[in-house]
Amino acid sequence: MHMRKPIVVGNWKMNGRQAGVNQLIAGLREAAVGLAGVDMAVCPPVIYVPSALSGLGGSPVKVGAQDVSLHGQDGAYTGEVSAAMLADVGCTYVIVGHSERRALYGETDEQVAIKFANAQREGLCPILCVGETLEEREQGVTESIVAHQLDAVLSKAGIGAFDRALIAYEPVWAIGTGRTATPEQAQDVHAFIRARLASHDAGVASRVRIQYGGSMKPENAAELMAMPDIDGGLIGGASLKVNDFMTICRAAGGGA
Ligand code: PEP
Repeated sequence: MHMRKPIVVGNWKMNGRQAGVNQLIAGLREAAVGLAGVDMAVCPPVIYVPSALSGLGGSPVKVGAQDVSLHGQDGAYTGEVSAAMLADVGCTYVIVGHSERRALYGETDEQVAIKFANAQREGLCPILCVGETLEEREQGVTESIVAHQLDAVLSKAGIGAFDRALIAYEPVWAIGTGRTATPEQAQDVHAFIRARLASHDAGVASRVRIQYGGSMKPENAAELMAMPDIDGGLIGGASLKVNDFMTICRAAGGGA
C-alpha cells in the first residue's frame, strides 16, 4: 500500500491534429469518470492546451505543458511560452528537463533548474525529468548522472521545492524504444533519488512522488507500480490511446 497517491501523466509529445485531439480529450473525459485513487494529467502540444483545458474542465484529468521558457519575464523572446502564460490559461503541471529537450535542444541541468524555478514561481507544479543514457548505464554512472541532475535543482530551488513538484525517472534507453526498465532497475534508481533528497530533508523525501517513464504500457504498468518507491508514470506513446492510458491509470490506482 503506497502512502503517496499515485499520479499518471501523459506526454503527447509532438503528435496530433485538432480533430484527433478533440476525440482523445472526449474519450479521456468519459473514461476518467469515477476513477479514484490516482491523480491524472495530460500534456498536449502547447497549441492544443486550450482545447484540453476546455474539454477536460471539471474532469479529474488535469492539464500541463511539455516545456516552458527559460525566460521569466515577458519580452522579445520569439517563439517562447512563459510559465506565467501556462498558469494564466489554467495549466497545473509542466514537464521540465525531458530527455528529448536535453538531447535535441541542448538543455543543461542548470537551465532545467531555472525552468523548474520559473514554473514554481507561477504556481505550476514542475515534473522534473531525470535519467541516464544507455552509455551512462553501461559505464556504471547512472547514480552520478541522476544526482547531478537533481542537485542542480536542489541548489537553485532548495529541498522545500520538492513538496510542490514531481520527479520522473526516465532512463533514456527506455523512452520510445519498447525497452522498459525492469521493476527492480527502476526501483533501485527511485530509491536512490529518494535517499538523496532524504539527506536534505527526510519528510520531503518521503512525500515526493517519483514517477517512472520509459515504454510504460498496460502490460507492464502494474508490476512497475507495485514497487515501493514508484508512485506513478510519465507515459509517452501509450498516452495517445484512451484505453491504454486509462488501463495504466487504473493499474496505478490499484485497480485491475
Ligand atoms: C516519455 O517521453 O516521457 C516517455 C516515457 O515516452 P514512452 O512512454 O513513449 O517511452
